[in-house]
Amino acid sequence: MKSDRIEFFGAAAGGAIFDIIRREGPISRAQLVRSTALSKSTISLHVDRLLKVGVIKEEALQTDSGPGRRSLLRFAADRGIVVGIELGVTSIDVAVCDLEALVLASHSEALDIARGPVPVLTRAYEIIETLLSEVKQEGGSLAGIGIGLPGPVNRTLGSVVSPPIMPGWDRYPVRDEVTTHFGVPCFVDNDVNVMALGEARAGSARASESFLFVKIGTGIGAGLVIDGQLYRGFKGSAGDIGHIGIDGETTRCSCGNRGCLEVVAGGGAIARKGRELAESGASPFLSETAARFAAEDPPREITAVEVGIAASQGDTAALELVIESGRHVGSVLAKLVNFFNPEMVILGGGTVNIGDAFVAAIREMVIRRSTQLATVDLVIRRSAFGEQSGMVGAALMVVDELFSTRAVTEMVREFDG
Ligand SMILES: [Zn+2]
Repeated sequence: MKSDRIEFFGAAAGGAIFDIIRREGPISRAQLVRSTALSKSTISLHVDRLLKVGVIKEEALQTDSGPGRRSLLRFAADRGIVVGIELGVTSIDVAVCDLEALVLASHSEALDIARGPVPVLTRAYEIIETLLSEVKQEGGSLAGIGIGLPGPVNRTLGSVVSPPIMPGWDRYPVRDEVTTHFGVPCFVDNDVNVMALGEARAGSARASESFLFVKIGTGIGAGLVIDGQLYRGFKGSAGDIGHIGIDGETTRCSCGNRGCLEVVAGGGAIARKGRELAESGASPFLSETAARFAAEDPPREITAVEVGIAASQGDTAALELVIESGRHVGSVLAKLVNFFNPEMVILGGGTVNIGDAFVAAIREMVIRRSTQLATVDLVIRRSAFGEQSGMVGAALMVVDELFSTRAVTEMVREFDG
């Protein structure tokens, strides 16, 4: 019994040391001794095992000319490749990455998710096969596939559940279908969580332990990272802030309620209100744009992008709409900042790019409506990651799962036999 117990702690310590090497590497053995308070010989024992298992590798310091061997340890990021997919409502982005989420090949195209799971996944498989053949020479073997989906995801089922805008996808076994097709593990999550993970591991929030990622597109959602880990909540719906009610608003939402944040201030709402400004003539710029779009073949409709352009051109009504929308988002974020006290709020999604006035209005409301202690060092910024955050985040989700502390502990234990 006693030796089992020691063995258990031994393997678990290996997993924990791997975790430090993955997150903080390249790192020396001496640094590991300092940050774990374990003895030099204990560290050496675990490091040697991790090297044999093949999850880390050792690099000699080239500048070192003195006696004795000096080297740095790092995650063996070239031991395999992973695929990250971001399925949007109208687009698909696929990346093949190494295990540190360096993009080796990628492809994006328009794809309507309403076509249903079978046609959409069939197209995704074709894109994956093409990209894999491109990187075959340099990459290792395929280790796993991660998918961000634009709806509420039940991670136990590996599928979306009652998505308002994805006909045919309700409880479709996405994870199991992809796992069967490629014969490697597949992991699914909602797109906002996946983006938050991308920001945490490779984007604007790499140095931040606790932050809020807010995606403002057609809809609005948030991902919470707490102490470096994505917080999904009890059933996986944490951060679903688009359906928080705005006082005094009555527009009906796809969820069945009225006055939800996303039907009041999301990209779809801004577009709808912009079209109203064009029709009523309240916005000369948008009226002119609408007339021009209507004459095109095929005709187009005003979106949030045009509202942003009108605002930046000094169109008063459009500017007021942008500011009002930003303030609604900001008033909800202020409540979250008071509740959660994050270090950063990162704003992503296409609608964030409609103009500085939008972000300024969000920031103004958060600062005005949150407590001073919560905002004194709070950073509110646009994502610097841009288009890549979804697919890279999906790839990182796979790496996090395959090389979790528990998974590596298991690998070490199996190795020990
Ligand atoms: Zn709603």
